Amino acid sequence: ASVPPPVVAATATHCPYCALQCGTELVEEGGGGGGRPTIGVRPTDFPVNRGRLCQKGWTAPRLLSAGDRLLGPLVRDHRGGPSRATDWPTALDRAVAGIRAAVDRAGADSVAVLGGGGLTNEKAYLLGKFARVALGTSQIDYNGRFCMSSAAAAGNAAFGVDRGLPFPVTDLEAAEVVLLVGANPAETMPPLMARIAAADLVVVDPRRTPTAERAALHLRTRPGTDLALALGLLHVAVVDGHVDRSYVRDRTTGFDEAWRHAVAWWPERTEQVTGVPVADQRAAVRLLAAASHRYVLTGRGAEQHSTGTDTVSAVINLALALGLPGRRGSGYGCLTGQGNGQGGREHGQKADQLPGYRSIEDPSARNHVAGVWGVRPEDLPGPGRSAYELLDALGGPDGPRALLVFGTNPVVSAPRAGHVTERLAALDLLVVADFVPSETTRIADVVLPTTQWAEEDGTMTNLEGRVLRRRAAVPPPPGVRTDLEVLSALATRLGQPAGRFPTRPEVVFAELAAASAGGRADYSGIDYDRLDRGEALHWPCPRTSGAPHPGTPRLFLDRFAHPDGRARFRPVAHRPGAEPPDDGYPLYGTTGRVLAHYQSGAQTRRVPELASVEPVPYVEVHPDTAGRAGLAAGDVAHVVTRRGRVTATVRLVPHLRADTVFLPFHFPEEGRANLITNPELDPVSRMPEFKVCAVRLERAGGT
Ligand code: SF4
Repeated sequence: ASVPPPVVAATATHCPYCALQCGTELVEEGGGGGGRPTIGVRPTDFPVNRGRLCQKGWTAPRLLSAGDRLLGPLVRDHRGGPSRATDWPTALDRAVAGIRAAVDRAGADSVAVLGGGGLTNEKAYLLGKFARVALGTSQIDYNGRFCMSSAAAAGNAAFGVDRGLPFPVTDLEAAEVVLLVGANPAETMPPLMARIAAADLVVVDPRRTPTAERAALHLRTRPGTDLALALGLLHVAVVDGHVDRSYVRDRTTGFDEAWRHAVAWWPERTEQVTGVPVADQRAAVRLLAAASHRYVLTGRGAEQHSTGTDTVSAVINLALALGLPGRRGSGYGCLTGQGNGQGGREHGQKADQLPGYRSIEDPSARNHVAGVWGVRPEDLPGPGRSAYELLDALGGPDGPRALLVFGTNPVVSAPRAGHVTERLAALDLLVVADFVPSETTRIADVVLPTTQWAEEDGTMTNLEGRVLRRRAAVPPPPGVRTDLEVLSALATRLGQPAGRFPTRPEVVFAELAAASAGGRADYSGIDYDRLDRGEALHWPCPRTSGAPHPGTPRLFLDRFAHPDGRARFRPVAHRPGAEPPDDGYPLYGTTGRVLAHYQSGAQTRRVPELASVEPVPYVEVHPDTAGRAGLAAGDVAHVVTRRGRVTATVRLVPHLRADTVFLPFHFPEEGRANLITNPELDPVSRMPEFKVCAVRLERAGGT
């Protein structure tokens, strides 16, 4: 038997991928040879994963030795020309010259910034400050707009503040029933399934996902009808006598108006619209009502719609009617997706927000944050465009001429990706900071190579609002810089005073904490020392004059965050999806994730063990539907919409709805699922309708 190599160092940190942020230990093993140490990973007993990891977590160290790692800056001398290696001063000068040219031509808003939900809290914070102070632009948003913005909008409206899970993940272990609406944790965050293993699951999903396979009840909705189903379930709850009347009376407002919108959703009508049988609707509500520990959780399947905010509001209305939120042992939560999807939305990289999760239009927030930043409040720009609107405007008559991208890959991940790629090509300047080549770095004028997760310190905030330390386990390669160093160097070149953009993560965190003081997501009582001592600090955690604040693992137990302390039913009416099937495009197309890959796949497609599990784009099709299109398993098909077509290998799935095809969204080039997705936006959250559009299937080659 082979002897494992000796462990010469171990560093406690967290997985680089999803919002569960599983606890890991990176172990530096002897005998690696060469210049870079060999790094292994071990799960820790951190409460969310308790010794488990999914295949992405187990293989994460492979990212550190990616063969095509970006190791030095690249520039193009002119748009569309060849890129060449250069040094850092030349690359930064080129970026700043392009920024200055855009500003001279059309003002500060001609420069835009796109951030990411995987950036650490420190990076997200400094990026927002960089945009508002160093660039003076209002044009900043981030890819979390495409992730959890509908749940955030609905949560804020209902509870006065939105935190993915307003309770620790470990509370789910006591659940008897969990209603999952458009969430597939068996693939997206497998260790979470162990936390809900004892519960009866009621799963709302058009597909029989691995999560739905484990469900006591699978409500197989027609794509785009979750809103109707939630209205119907509220109707059943009321008519069948399951409403918690005293909770509704004492802890909420607005029930009567919400009921008025649900009153016409009698079960037969709901069945007609959603396809969910009357008996299953009743059984689902009965299961939830009968349990004493029950949770309702939403995911992207409910949220990524032009009706996403209303859909989540309708689900929250059901949870409120049953008396779940703000009660120990029960609740509503959103399973945030990206690694720092929670923290990423709190520190100011969102178009309409300042640090502390505060509105950029709130005068007191502007005063406070401007004070921390040492600028005048009147010099801070106002709200900018949301992510898709920003991308859509690039290079247009009133749109930005220059774009800086940090930690995201919009060529693959944005809706209507072909159009977005054209808009990126219309820019005068595209600067991308990343650690591996992506489809977006490939068309950039300036590529700035950065450190990655295990090479840097910082903090992340996981889906339960717990602030976590990410720790450097290995030194970065010599040619790369941290994102904080990149922002600081750009700011200095743009004339900002020395020290205004610090580069040490703990210094940035201290400033972030000060900027958040008094906000909804208050970090002012948190510092690196407390985190390094292992304290479990969930925000809000304000600075106190006496004993340190212990953090807030459970929100809303006594009161909700609205001034009157009550949760608000938000009355919502049914609206269909933006693009129903028709004769030309007779099927529903839906998109999602698979276990082996993460987001645009820029990272996981580079990990051989993951790439070998899912190497090529595929489309799931019911055998009857495939037969009608003349397709068999393994054939190459085009999935066509009004916006373009995806090329993918046919996979026959007998339990899929015959009116629906499914595409995973992790693949590049002609396999990009987002070539066909619909950019129709939710009017409140500005979330695009990733989850449903009208498609037709064609055989590739047109035979
Ligand atoms: Fe990493 Fe998420 Fe997998 Fe945990 S569940 S190992 S955080 S990808």
